[in-house]
Amino acid sequence: MRYVDEYRDAALVKGVVAEIKRIVTRPWAMMEICGGQTHAIMHYGLDQILPPEIELVHGPGCPVCVTSLELIDKALMIASQPNVIMTSFGDMLRVPGSNGDLFSIRAAGGQVKVVYSPLDAVKIAQQNPDKQVVFFAIGFETTAPANVMSVIQAQNLGIKNYSVLVSHVCVPPAMHAILGSPDNRIQAFLAAGHVCAVMGYWEYPPIALKYHVPIVITGFEPLDLVNGILMAVRQLEAGQVEVQNAYSRVVTYEGNKAAQAMIGRVLQPVDRLWRGIGLIPMSGWGLRPEFKEFDAERRFDVGDIRTQESPLCIAGQVLQGLKKPTQCPAFGIQCTPRTPLGAPMVSTEGACSAYHRYRLVDLEVNQ
Ligand code: SF4
Repeated sequence: MRYVDEYRDAALVKGVVAEIKRIVTRPWAMMEICGGQTHAIMHYGLDQILPPEIELVHGPGCPVCVTSLELIDKALMIASQPNVIMTSFGDMLRVPGSNGDLFSIRAAGGQVKVVYSPLDAVKIAQQNPDKQVVFFAIGFETTAPANVMSVIQAQNLGIKNYSVLVSHVCVPPAMHAILGSPDNRIQAFLAAGHVCAVMGYWEYPPIALKYHVPIVITGFEPLDLVNGILMAVRQLEAGQVEVQNAYSRVVTYEGNKAAQAMIGRVLQPVDRLWRGIGLIPMSGWGLRPEFKEFDAERRFDVGDIRTQESPLCIAGQVLQGLKKPTQCPAFGIQCTPRTPLGAPMVSTEGACSAYHRYRLVDLEVNQ
């Protein structure tokens, strides 16, 4: 298949890895921000064919994982109410809140529907005028255009029974938080190609310069990933600090201006709690006052939430790249995809689920 097969060509990937091995002279730790990249690295075993000097550290770019426990609990509270249809992407149904998940609400008789687009949620609202339909709008910059489009469409159609529970987070503030931490050991970033397809990469040069870290915009196929790693290693070995684009077939410096304008019309920067990490100032988006009628947090009384995380889960350290999932004592024992204690074991982009899916056999063999 064009644009896929050539980026999965084993001989080409091995050639790039051979070049990395030829030029690397010392250990380097680099973070892939996106959980989709983490899964691709695990799926194709790229971490196992790279030279031992290259350590890939998994970042917080799994939207399901970083959605705060407070918002999960608010979603559970709203979904439990009569006359509410809660709509969400499938992964969110199994993310544990303080007391259960959306699946358990559905099992108890609540109306919880999986949708593949927020525009489907608007249709459900049209078809059910006697119900309140809520869409759980999570995600990074990537999902924001479709989510805001649903609000604009609901406004244009005069739909009054649709609202969104907004939990948008943004990549650049998370990079600042990681690089500014006293525990930071990241020396280069592989930035998420799909986020940059929307936002461009004009926000990244000040970050690279401030923290003296190379940043390479990287795609998701094996050849994309090893090319991104090679470009980062070249910079590190040469002492250079630049933002480079290894995903130019999709990403431009400016990004998608129309999408950025649409996001800016509906959303504004807000402080955001990241699950397991804490509050990062101005790290997310919330609805602008002009769209407050679509704000599910205002429409439903969900003010007094007391959260309770599993004491065993070290997801915060995993999401900041301080620990690998296999260093969590609960990994594969109390915490499995069937019995997740934390969101990174649930999400298809979560680092813990990637290790469980692609590395558990290796770990068991080596024990
Ligand atoms: S393995 Fe489970 S308990 Fe441990 S950090 Fe990951 S999600 Fe949390």
